[in-house]
Amino acid sequence: MSALLTVHGSQICFAVTARRGKLAPVDNANNSGIRSLSTTHNTRLLIIGAGPAGYTAAIYAARAGLKPLMVAGLQPGGQLMITTEVENYPGFAEAVQGPFLMEQMQKQAVHVGTEIIQDIITSIDLGGRPFRALGDSGDSYVADSVVIATGAQARWLGIPGEKELSGFGVSACATCDGFFFRGKTVAVVGGGNTAVEEALYLANLAKHVTVVHRRDSFRAERILQQRLFALPNVTVLWDTVVEAVLASEGQFPSARALVLRNAKTGAASELPLDGVFVAIGHDPATALFKGQVAMDAEGYIETVPGSARTNVPGVFAAGDVQDKVYRQAVTAAGTGCMAALEAEKWLAHHAEPVLT
Ligand code: NDP
Repeated sequence: MSALLTVHGSQICFAVTARRGKLAPVDNANNSGIRSLSTTHNTRLLIIGAGPAGYTAAIYAARAGLKPLMVAGLQPGGQLMITTEVENYPGFAEAVQGPFLMEQMQKQAVHVGTEIIQDIITSIDLGGRPFRALGDSGDSYVADSVVIATGAQARWLGIPGEKELSGFGVSACATCDGFFFRGKTVAVVGGGNTAVEEALYLANLAKHVTVVHRRDSFRAERILQQRLFALPNVTVLWDTVVEAVLASEGQFPSARALVLRNAKTGAASELPLDGVFVAIGHDPATALFKGQVAMDAEGYIETVPGSARTNVPGVFAAGDVQDKVYRQAVTAAGTGCMAALEAEKWLAHHAEPVLT
């Protein structure tokens, strides 16, 4: 199997190492030199998060003359930084590397006038305007408007072999990586909507799909379950936990089997396969904003349908932080664009500039 795979989702980082990406520091006037004193940064638009949503918001906002300030974290990029091949981001006839894609987005954002600061926001006050945030560096950020684009992380099982084989037969995104398993044998772990949707998607591509679920019933919507049970190339293993992912021999090991245990009988078994998709949920990176913007029960930021507006005027959310359905780089970019356009309109009508 080729060295494939994405670890699902929409964020990214920069310069590439062999298996994991790492973005080079931003070549930005504000990042050059060492600052010994903390600084207060005033901006019309503060963008928090440096994935496709954040970068796209930055590109649109910069081109609209808002001079956005992006706080990109110490390892900008996010989930696409641990992605090798990306084949489904439009505009590239050949597959591109996730880190390369993010590097291009970063450069584009800087090129059109975004200021990027590598800092981590540790607290934020969205209770009154202007909005105020504090960075781990000691710097303060004062903003007329904010775009939250902090993303979400796929949950992992935490079992032997999973991390080592991530991108080599282990994935958390069927839409991203399913294509690489055409005609092959795969498993999906989980029993929620995501797991069943992933299995349905994969059943169109793979020879056989085994869904491995730790209980004896799915929590996925009944209609999805019905569709799944009707498929001839899908098997469900109930009451089964995955204990390890086994690797093939050779110079470039990839997943070759799962070690399983029946939760009721304790019986152990092995399931041979070419790939496994872990679909046990996601964690949106929203702890910072708890109690300040409306969120659903799972911690995703709620936006007004068809927009990037949150319940706090002047605060917008884009990308996986507010999306538990699509979770794609391209949809994150799309909502990043929406957030910037809406912020621009909102600023024109509501905010007195904080800039001096
Ligand atoms: P869920 O939290 O709904 O489901 C997670 C699944 O993974 C559960 O079946 C759970 O098992 C299982 N699981 C969790 N931890 C482990 C573990 N350590 N080992 C093995 N299995 C584990 O997550 P989803 O991502 O499926 O969905 C998240 C939200 O997004 C839901 O509200 C869902 O409805 C929504 N969604 C909506 C979609 C749509 O509208 N089209 C598409 C996808 C998701 P158990 O059941 O035993 O707890």
